[in-house]
Amino acid sequence: MRKQSLVWQLFPSYLLVTLAALLAITGYSAQAVRNFYHEQAAKDLKSRAALVSGQVHERIRDGDFASIQDLCNELGPAADTRITIILPSGVVAGDSEENPGDMDNHAGRPEVREALMGCLGSSMRFSKTVNKQMMYVAVPLMADTKVDGVVRVAIPITAIDDALWSILSRIAYGGGIVALLAAGVSWGVSRRITRPLAELRQGAERFARGALDQPLTIPDSLEIGALAESMNTMARELDERIKTAIRQKNELDAVLASMVEGVLAVDNHERLIIINQTAAGLLDVDAEAVLGKYLPEIVRNSTLEQFIEDTLSSEGMLEREIVFHQHGERLFQGHGTVLHDTQENASGAVVVLNDITRLRRLENVRREFVANVSHELKTPITSIKGFVETLLDSTPEDPADVERFHRIIAKQADQLGSLIDDLLTLSRLEQEEKPLETIAQIEALRPTLEKAVLRHVSRAADKGVRIELHCDDALEVRINQSLITQCIVNLLDNAIMYSERDGVVCVTASREGDDVVVSVRDEGCGVAPEHLPRLFERFYRVDKARSRELGGTGLGLAIVKHIVELHGGHVEAKSTLGAGSVFSVYLPANTSQTSA
Ligand code: ADP
Repeated sequence: MRKQSLVWQLFPSYLLVTLAALLAITGYSAQAVRNFYHEQAAKDLKSRAALVSGQVHERIRDGDFASIQDLCNELGPAADTRITIILPSGVVAGDSEENPGDMDNHAGRPEVREALMGCLGSSMRFSKTVNKQMMYVAVPLMADTKVDGVVRVAIPITAIDDALWSILSRIAYGGGIVALLAAGVSWGVSRRITRPLAELRQGAERFARGALDQPLTIPDSLEIGALAESMNTMARELDERIKTAIRQKNELDAVLASMVEGVLAVDNHERLIIINQTAAGLLDVDAEAVLGKYLPEIVRNSTLEQFIEDTLSSEGMLEREIVFHQHGERLFQGHGTVLHDTQENASGAVVVLNDITRLRRLENVRREFVANVSHELKTPITSIKGFVETLLDSTPEDPADVERFHRIIAKQADQLGSLIDDLLTLSRLEQEEKPLETIAQIEALRPTLEKAVLRHVSRAADKGVRIELHCDDALEVRINQSLITQCIVNLLDNAIMYSERDGVVCVTASREGDDVVVSVRDEGCGVAPEHLPRLFERFYRVDKARSRELGGTGLGLAIVKHIVELHGGHVEAKSTLGAGSVFSVYLPANTSQTSA
């Protein structure tokens, strides 16, 4: 349906009411004026009849009918009235405007009939005789109870109607002016109502566009003013709520963005409603672009998809491990919870993905380490226990056997001791929380290296191995002396251990770019290339039995790596099978020092 302006709805009804009122007043007043005129005319006619009746009655009593006509002719024009004298038989005895001889019997005329019955008769009708609308009043000429005749007076009432019409036309003219005024007023009133409404509408449109801080001006009208105030209050509250919602969303976005955990939420139809950068990275999608899309379109990980589906159909919280193959294999712990709307109905699910790859790796390392330590401890202990039991059960007769057994027990005990020493060293290094600056200082490197070499001099001599040391006296580096000594001791230990008789072990220290490099080179058996990357792992040994036989613990290089990393450096192993190895320690150089 076509909508109409309020002006066009109000204006016609105003006009209609005004015109209806005007018509009713005009009609009523016309009727009242007409009645008044008629009553006045009737009264007037009655008086005129009364004036005539005395003279006429006398003449009828005298039988002087001829003079009656004369009287009529005389008085009629003088009084501007038609006068008719009628005898009781209905015969017209005189008439001021017609020849009585030509006139028919008047006994049947309504006013005459009433007058003949002794009453005052009156009537209004069209007279064919004079061809006009007339008002008749008939007065009986009474002699006691007998009617001697009737005096009928009549005037045309066209004059009355003319007068009435002139009054009515004036009323209509005035009414027209009033109607125009009413139209103008109704138009103005309509405009007064609609203008503030139009302003309210514009204000509401402004609110809809988001300009909630521009309040509406309050119109004078009580009702529209109250509406405008309500709308302003509504806009203020809406503004406040929107600001709160935006603030909360920003906070949520900031929290989600800063989370290392992946977060994604879906609605009941598996449509994505929240996804943070971490989760988007895991799924290899653009976080903004996938919002609102269905889960199967985005997620290529069947475990995750199944997990979200299970969460949606569950009541409480679910947990599951999920593997992602984005940037290598990574293991995540998924926590899924059902989302509820304000009516506590399930409205979706949120899943938080926690990267436990490192944790699981550490767990595995720890488990492996405990198993290794147990194994490493068990071997010498079993050996010691075996020989002690043998000695307790039956002391060998040959004293050389007893001594051999004792030596084996002593060697195993040493092995046990070395193992525990290395474990303690590792544990101390791992627990070292003090920053390097507090435990290290700039030292000349040569004395440290000499100290380490000195510890091995006799051992090397026993094996016929020669140790060479090449280090500039001026070479300085920020180190913790005892740790670096321990580090070089371990490297020398291996170098001597795996060297052949009469071999040479060479310790060299020099400045290479930003590093000070200490290398320990031997001419021993060397290591096959496939083992090189794992040599610095705890308990990793190329030949377990040989290492044990030689008194190795499998922790020497792990300790070296730990110490060097504590100094902010790194280690490197190069080797040629059968030709020897070079183990190098790179330490950050003291940058103020000039190149050696
Ligand atoms: P171990 O106590 O067994 O020497 P390390 O951690 O010091 O333990 O060394 C790990 C393994 O690396 C050794 O078992 C050995 O197989 C190999 N290795 C270390 N240094 C040398 C070297 N100089 N020559 C040959 N192999 C070596």
